[in-house]
Amino acid sequence: MQNQLDMFKVFRNPEHIKALAKLINLEAPKKIKVMEVCGGHTHTIMKYGLPQILKNSFEFVHGPGCPVCVMPKNRIDHAYILANQKDVILVTLGDMIKVPGSHGSLADARSKGADVRFVYSPMDVLKIAAQNPTKKVIFFAIGFETTTPMSAALIKHVIEKKLSNVLFHINHVTVPEAMEALLVNGSLIDAFIGPSHVSVITGSKIYDKFPKEYKKPVVVAGFEPVDVMEGLLMIARQVKEGRSELENQYTRSVTFEGNIVAQKLIDTYFEKRDGFIWRGLGNIPKSALKLKDEFSSYDAEVVYKDALPNDLVDDHKSCICGEILRGLAKPTDCKVFGTACKPSSPIGSCMVSSEGACAAYYKYGNLL
Ligand code: SF4
Repeated sequence: MQNQLDMFKVFRNPEHIKALAKLINLEAPKKIKVMEVCGGHTHTIMKYGLPQILKNSFEFVHGPGCPVCVMPKNRIDHAYILANQKDVILVTLGDMIKVPGSHGSLADARSKGADVRFVYSPMDVLKIAAQNPTKKVIFFAIGFETTTPMSAALIKHVIEKKLSNVLFHINHVTVPEAMEALLVNGSLIDAFIGPSHVSVITGSKIYDKFPKEYKKPVVVAGFEPVDVMEGLLMIARQVKEGRSELENQYTRSVTFEGNIVAQKLIDTYFEKRDGFIWRGLGNIPKSALKLKDEFSSYDAEVVYKDALPNDLVDDHKSCICGEILRGLAKPTDCKVFGTACKPSSPIGSCMVSSEGACAAYYKYGNLL
């Protein structure tokens, strides 16, 4: 605990942040358009007012790295439909329960009698399954590379223990394919701040192609404000010196190779899939995971195939979450931001999720 407090003193030190701001503003050769891929970084950036103190050196473009935000409506509809199947308990993580689908949110399903539960750790599913042996417990798995190993660990346990009442609806997605889709579609981003937690698992190697093939600097940075500022200084120096390199500010947790044990666990149970339609970014080839065919008896998408439609479902007509996730708009560009759409009555996923850009703008309110 004391170590953590000491760490906060260092990584949230206002004097340190101000000194870094001075350096960045001196060194940035132009206003650099930087995308922070991860929603956790968006919240740090907004919470500590970085757009204000760096207004001459950086324009922040918020990226697609919020797993709840990028979940398309038709997958939420799957969760809603599964929750309403006979003798099913639908289990998911945190904010997912509040995101509206076309029939309503999982919270709505629960208020109408469906058994929907949220857990902090996927392993909590085991307890629910043990307490309800006559029910099917379906884990609606979400998240980027950060949470995928936890789903894989749960699957491993379920298979090894031959548990017959646990199924999975897999919605894990991958970061590099989304970043590449943005660039291929003409995004004018100058550089990226690479996600921290994802990179702990994958290693920074997954971003190697962006400096090499697209000439875009990538700096992996931690979540604390000093981490982000140091990452921005590294980007400013790359741009000033005409370099495009992969650099790692978050060396206390991220290596080039990442967590090999976690990567092997993922590879044992999952394979890449096509046809996952991201909210805002559309169909990005090989950007999502599915259970390997040999584990299909645990796959709720296979077991309940006839009940689950695959139609595309449009977002609410007022919601511009898709444009925000593509870095083409800011939450304040949305006509219903802060009026019809608030955290207490969200219209779109970017306001629901604690990592969403709209939620960050609403919560910290330090709007430009
Ligand atoms: S403010 Fe609400 S409706 Fe507007 S883009 Fe954000 S989530 Fe969508």
